[in-house]
Amino acid sequence: MKITSALQDTSDLKKNWSEVQLKLKETYGVDVFKSWIQNVEAKEINHNSLTLIVKTRFVRDWIVSHYADKILDFFQKLNPVVTRIQFEIHESFYNAKSADTNIVDFNTGSKIVNIQDNGYAANRLDHRLTFSNFVVGESNQLAFSAAKRVSESLGHYNPLFIYGSVGLGKTHLLNAIGNELKKTDKKIIYLSAERFMYQFVKSIKNKDTQKFKDVFRNADVLILDDIQFISGKEVTQEEFFYTFNSLTENQSQVIISCDRSPNDLDRIQDRIKSRLSGGLVVDIQSPDIALRLQILKNRCKTEETYFGKEVLINDEILSFIANEFKSSVRDMLGVLNRIIASSRIQNKTPTLQDAKMILKDLLSNMKAIISIEDIQKLVVSYYNLPMGDFLSSRRSRHIARPRQVAMYLAKKLTTKSLPEIGRKFTGRDHTTVIHAIKKIEELMAADKKFEYEVQDISNKILKNN
Ligand code: ADP
Ligand code: MG
Repeated sequence: MKITSALQDTSDLKKNWSEVQLKLKETYGVDVFKSWIQNVEAKEINHNSLTLIVKTRFVRDWIVSHYADKILDFFQKLNPVVTRIQFEIHESFYNAKSADTNIVDFNTGSKIVNIQDNGYAANRLDHRLTFSNFVVGESNQLAFSAAKRVSESLGHYNPLFIYGSVGLGKTHLLNAIGNELKKTDKKIIYLSAERFMYQFVKSIKNKDTQKFKDVFRNADVLILDDIQFISGKEVTQEEFFYTFNSLTENQSQVIISCDRSPNDLDRIQDRIKSRLSGGLVVDIQSPDIALRLQILKNRCKTEETYFGKEVLINDEILSFIANEFKSSVRDMLGVLNRIIASSRIQNKTPTLQDAKMILKDLLSNMKAIISIEDIQKLVVSYYNLPMGDFLSSRRSRHIARPRQVAMYLAKKLTTKSLPEIGRKFTGRDHTTVIHAIKKIEELMAADKKFEYEVQDISNKILKNN
């Protein structure tokens, strides 16, 4: 009995998922469907959560930032139990499309020909990350030129060591080098130091360290991302050091990225540090405002080409994003994605205020958490009321209505719960707050002028923050 029902569940799940895939195809078109949706599988539903299986982290991130809302939406229509989606990554190795790649396979040490799902692989080069879509500015000029130089003439700087804090484009540059070299007949290994460690430890466990050594030491180019991961891992460091030495002795190129300079690496042996600094060390600094804006604009263009549909984001919003999200290009682009996704779903050009609403959680994390007091102050001054009256228990319309507006905005602009909001209005009950929200929503729906009024107040509050 149990087994049958489990089977039934699985077949329902598959059926529902196919249907959702179909809807996504209708919504986003065949290209998007083929690139992102087709190969995703539905695994199970557990505690209201639908698990989807994707092939790479990148696909997962892309789906999360572009399609997850829609997927959930569609799925809920078929099965309302599901309230969230989670992802499992089953990294397959290269798929048939990249069979001609010259990335080395760890199992055989030879060039890869169509190996699937062995789950034991170097990281995949991301073909989207190229030199041509890397925007150059003062802060990354040096790293960019060095990377380009190395890809044009191997061994020129050896090793090339690129460092900078997270989200500034190191992985992008490393992939750009790899993608350039893929066009040659060089044997390239690209992987994160974490992965290097994992492969190494695994080879010890499987007692085939010799193969591990051979694979790495025969590479023409070793690209190692995020080398800070091997700090403190003595045995891996040792192995890395030998690999590194034998590669450079063979005139093989080594390219390394790190979140800090070689000297600032702690718990890494001094001899390794000094070897790491032995070639060219370049850093990537935080981008200035002009570069940030340009990166955003380029990304919008890429999205347009990709989707074949105009991106409805105006310059005001772009400069807002560029001004607010300074420290990491990755975060900044994530924010842009979110606004683009939402403008697609709503099918309209967002205003600056819409954008701020969409980013409410991020913005309030960063700074300027809008407090209920801020809202009360603004509402009181907008309607020209004494605060004492406003917070009193008086119910005459000219006081009660602004009070309701303030409660409504408190719900909308802060993350406070209904009881918390109630308390800030001289200990009112949460049902009063619910009533206020309903009332204001009704009035706004019925009366355009009133709707503008509330919008106007809301804008003023956001501007003040
Ligand atoms: P890091 O490896 O330094 O943490 P990444 O290379 O992963 O950072 O960059 C984060 C994101 O920002 C990626 O999507 C990358 O394509 C993008 N990015 C960073 N710098 C630039 C740039 N100069 N031009 C275009 N995109 C960039
Ligand atoms: Mg990186």
